[in-house]
Amino acid sequence: MKSALITGANKGIGFEVAKILAQKGFFVYLGSRNLANGQAAVEKLKAQGLTNITALQLDVTSQSSVDAARKAISSLDVLVNNAGIAGGFEQSALTSTADQYQQVYDTNVFGVVRVTQAFIDLLKNAPEPRIVNVSTAMASLSAAADIFNDNYPKRYVVYQSSKSALNMYTVNLAYELRDTAFKVNAVCPGYTQTDFTGHQGTSTPEEAGQRIAKYVLVGQNGPTGQYFSEEYFPAPANCPW
Ligand code: NAP
Repeated sequence: MKSALITGANKGIGFEVAKILAQKGFFVYLGSRNLANGQAAVEKLKAQGLTNITALQLDVTSQSSVDAARKAISSLDVLVNNAGIAGGFEQSALTSTADQYQQVYDTNVFGVVRVTQAFIDLLKNAPEPRIVNVSTAMASLSAAADIFNDNYPKRYVVYQSSKSALNMYTVNLAYELRDTAFKVNAVCPGYTQTDFTGHQGTSTPEEAGQRIAKYVLVGQNGPTGQYFSEEYFPAPANCPW
């Protein structure tokens, strides 16, 4: 049985990805920084008949938590780096502080680096390893580059730049693994109704989960080192994410 680890899977999009992959027959490690929340999420899925799933305490900002999670797993086929934070709503290139960047990058960028590097040895042993990094249309430099186009939001510099960095990490990771069976991609789930957006959005968590799972399930002829955003582009003016 193939296995998958999803970070930040106790709720929102990550929870849906965990459900979809369990339904597809993966053994799922449902990552959650709060173990009780992770266990509660697992119980919800078990009540739906999904037994091939277990909660794993994993705070992506804590090296000791990541190391402990790594020790608990002996094989892994799929890593979905989903855990992410927005960093609050007041963000400005002129006034957001380095501490604000540090906090958001610690989860959205350094967290992905920590988790990916901790589990890469196990993934290298898998016949068809997959890594999906959950990104956002808000991270696109080309889309944001027209500074006189107000239709493309530019008010979330801390979050946006963290996901731009994640995209570049994704490309470099795929590049370094290009002669292997790995498929490594960054995917935008769409503007989704979760706690993250105050339950605003054009997509349900189920739809978003399907968009992410699609790139877990790509075959050996599938893409690598790419960024995918299916829902719409550019994002509408009222879309903060
Ligand atoms: P969400 O409902 O707020 O869920 C975020 C998840 O990340 C939660 O499980 C949260 O855990 C976890 N998390 C946060 N910090 C963590 C840490 N240090 N270690 C481990 N887990 C941590 O948000 P979502 O909408 O599902 O977002 C999931 C991903 O999609 C994020 O990367 C986000 O940037 C991305 N995204 C979302 C949208 C959207 O419209 N919703 C659009 C584009 C991209 P707790 O429950 O403990 O807080």
